[in-house]
Amino acid sequence: MRRFLIAGNWKMHKTVSEAIELVRELKNLVKDVSDRDILICPPFTALYPVSKELEGSNITLGGQNMYFEEQGAFTGEISPLMLKSVGCSYVILGHSERRHIFGESDELINKKVLSSINHGLIPILCVGELLEERENGKTKEVVEEQIREGLKNVNKDAEFVIAYEPVWAIGTGKTATPELAEEVHLFIREVLSDMFGNEKASSVKILYGGSVKPENAAGLLKMENIDGALVGGASLKAESFAKIVKFD
Ligand code: PEP
Repeated sequence: MRRFLIAGNWKMHKTVSEAIELVRELKNLVKDVSDRDILICPPFTALYPVSKELEGSNITLGGQNMYFEEQGAFTGEISPLMLKSVGCSYVILGHSERRHIFGESDELINKKVLSSINHGLIPILCVGELLEERENGKTKEVVEEQIREGLKNVNKDAEFVIAYEPVWAIGTGKTATPELAEEVHLFIREVLSDMFGNEKASSVKILYGGSVKPENAAGLLKMENIDGALVGGASLKAESFAKIVKFD
């Protein structure tokens, strides 16, 4: 019932010419895929040229972050209107690098989530515990708070995606086992059910992120509550991202 979504987060990688080269290669490799959704999130500077390359393709475009205001004196920020104007339909919000390097709070992330929805973007709300929190048995507590605060005042009819990304697994080569990831995904669905009801909770896509590679994608994605992947490092090479997209 839930279509898989495989999303690539390019982070702060790829100049415009490198981005065009990557997207041309990727487009060709995944052109026959029609049973799952494919998303790429290049850096802001590459969004417009990449959107031109994607015209008519089966790959959708997203931003990696945004500010919640439409416009104004917010030097260095990008608004939802700007993302829409270059063809984005998704935006990643609350990524652990935003939370831990740039100090984003649940309150700020919630404003961004509400604004993205109001402007017709689909937010991908990222949640996940630090290694220390996992070791202290706090995983569920941390994730629940990030979900409840991040989705505060969100209408149950709004479309949103959750990405569970244990911070200790991001860019470290350490992947959560499928069973360990599934346990948290199921818990997230229970929290969503409590917030929005069963029907809505069972329709929300919950992606896993954290060192997803062609070799481990299928094992993770066969779990019942894992509906896709948010891929960092392995999305920077067309061939490896395409292999993840085409997992079976
Ligand atoms: C990410 O950027 O969200 C991510 C999960 O990175 P990586 O796949 O490199 O761990």
